[in-house]
Amino acid sequence: MNVFHVILALVTLLAMELAVTFIHRYVMHGFGWGWHRSHHEARKTPGWERNDLYALVFTAATIPLFALSSPSEPLWWIASGVTGYGLLYALLHDVLIHRRLPLKWKPSHPYMQRLMSAHYLHHAVKTREGAVSYGFLYAPPVEALRAQLRRRKKP
Ligand SMILES: [Zn+2]
Ligand SMILES: [Zn+2]
Repeated sequence: MNVFHVILALVTLLAMELAVTFIHRYVMHGFGWGWHRSHHEARKTPGWERNDLYALVFTAATIPLFALSSPSEPLWWIASGVTGYGLLYALLHDVLIHRRLPLKWKPSHPYMQRLMSAHYLHHAVKTREGAVSYGFLYAPPVEALRAQLRRRKKP
């Protein structure tokens, strides 16, 4: 492990946010809506959602990257960045925002508040079209999102 490896993992983690925002916007709210719809509907049971298949696919795609490399190779650190993103996503999106684990974690930092509010506004729209804020680590200012939603509701 050297500085280059750590930077590579961090850059990968940030690139994942861009890629996942794009995938959420154009795949999950596009032809992949069939899996994602379950996540925008009112939850009937506290168990698994069809939308969790996305996490499964991402995990399955990352395993070969580890299998084909070792910690002395750049690929292993790219795979670590992807995994780091997955863990952050699960922690912030599933545990903190959707409360899928019984944890009493209430962050007060303005950044975390904004992330949470923005994602609740994403869920304010139950349909494939017309949602706002598709990112998970970055969220636009909440007021801008509210204005965007108001504009879209107008006929
Ligand atoms: Zn969505
Ligand atoms: Zn969500």
